Amino acid sequence: MSNKRSIRIFDTTLRDGEQSPGCSMNLQEKLEVAQALIDLKVDVIEAGFPIASPGDFEAVREIATSLGNRGVEICGLARSNDKDIDRAWEALKQSANPRIHVFLATSAIHREFKLKMTPEEIIKRAVAGVERAKSYCDNIEFSPEDAARTEIDFLCQVVEAVVKAGATTVNIPDTVGYATPSHMRDVISALMNRVPNIDQTVISVHCHNDLGMAVANSLAAVQAGAGQIECTVNGIGERAGNTSLEEVVMAMRTRHDVYDFDTNIESNRLVPASRLVSAVTGLHVQRNKAIVGRNAFAHEAGIHQDGMLKNRDTYEIMRPQDVGFAATDLVLGKHSGRAALADRAKQLGFQLTGEQLQSVFEKFKQLADKKKEIFDGDIVAIIQDEILGATESEWSLVTYQVELAYKSTPRISLTLARDDQEKTVEISDGSGPVDAAFLAVQQLTGVELDCNEFQIQSTTLGRDANGEVTIETDHEGQTWRGRAVSMDCVEATIKAILNATNRILASTRQPV
Ligand SMILES: [Zn+2]
Repeated sequence: MSNKRSIRIFDTTLRDGEQSPGCSMNLQEKLEVAQALIDLKVDVIEAGFPIASPGDFEAVREIATSLGNRGVEICGLARSNDKDIDRAWEALKQSANPRIHVFLATSAIHREFKLKMTPEEIIKRAVAGVERAKSYCDNIEFSPEDAARTEIDFLCQVVEAVVKAGATTVNIPDTVGYATPSHMRDVISALMNRVPNIDQTVISVHCHNDLGMAVANSLAAVQAGAGQIECTVNGIGERAGNTSLEEVVMAMRTRHDVYDFDTNIESNRLVPASRLVSAVTGLHVQRNKAIVGRNAFAHEAGIHQDGMLKNRDTYEIMRPQDVGFAATDLVLGKHSGRAALADRAKQLGFQLTGEQLQSVFEKFKQLADKKKEIFDGDIVAIIQDEILGATESEWSLVTYQVELAYKSTPRISLTLARDDQEKTVEISDGSGPVDAAFLAVQQLTGVELDCNEFQIQSTTLGRDANGEVTIETDHEGQTWRGRAVSMDCVEATIKAILNATNRILASTRQPV
């Protein structure tokens, strides 16, 4: 039996990750991501910040209720006050393994300028928060926000007090991404050595990537004694993001000689989880991203390829299939049956219900009529469209017609539907088809959008490949993303604009 220390993986994709600009997810998308996190076997899912908005509350409640009996802990965030903590508990209480995460800033700059509280008042408030949470459940995490910049003597006092009050995990956040590996190691070592009751809690670490060191800082923390790492899929999160789950897990797994720890993560689910999070947030994974980037296992240099053919170990430290890349990009076609499609979907990391499979199969057949070879990228696009497609209460595309000519204003006729009602507009305006599509959608939906970014890329090979359009827009000072895939790039553009519009509308709709 291995006596390796087991490191708990606390995933905050749905909380810290979702907080990053343009990364908001709707309820259905959050449930899909939560399901992918369960498949990955993370230990804790931080599902949201229930008091932040009715949508956040509803998402945490739904995840706690429908997935809270699947062995994973479901966590909700709260500031250290009764109202926040009560609301978090209200959202979490249906879960079999709830965890309340209470936070309060402790650094001098936050105490003085943000909270205007003395050190004594901070400790009192922190203890009161943990005690309040403890009155609801046993599993309590406390975070001294901006811990990495907190005076170490004061941090030790705070940690001792909250552990005494019942915090079962104490998380040390580097909120502003200022720490270095040796700094992080010193902070964790000081807590381990100086806090008398430290053995009654699990030390956790939460790093931000502002200096590109979040993964390195997290690894330094576990070497110094931390037992939990907070991270996100693809490293998404505020500003430069959080510790990337896939990188920190594979670093421990690949360099067991240095990091003698285990996690429960099913590493062959990393790529499917990465693809899903990228699809629902519209935030692309850079090609050269470690572990899950498209080029992470591509060997281009001739001398490397030669070595690889002789023995993979010459240039490969991990096998692509260990992180969930399919061993081959199998090609399906017109004559492929439902069983072959179902099998491929499963290998790509999707678990479809019978109903979903039927609908995906129909769309697959339609695509196979137009396109000879269907690649994995096409199948992923169809499934994502099916799983994450517009619901009835959202705007959807019925039909469009565009007239374009060299050096002349485009003309567009567009029909959209919502709640079974169709609306049509005809305009002749805009500098090109994309601009015209924005103007037409805006006229029909009444939601104003500024386009900051427009990207189109092919999801697979060949001229008949599917095009993926992602847009980034501004609406009333907030950033939103939209994404859609089609072989017709005008259709993909309209659908991507609708995707962003529906997100904006969903965020302002109050749940019933
Ligand atoms: Zn954070």
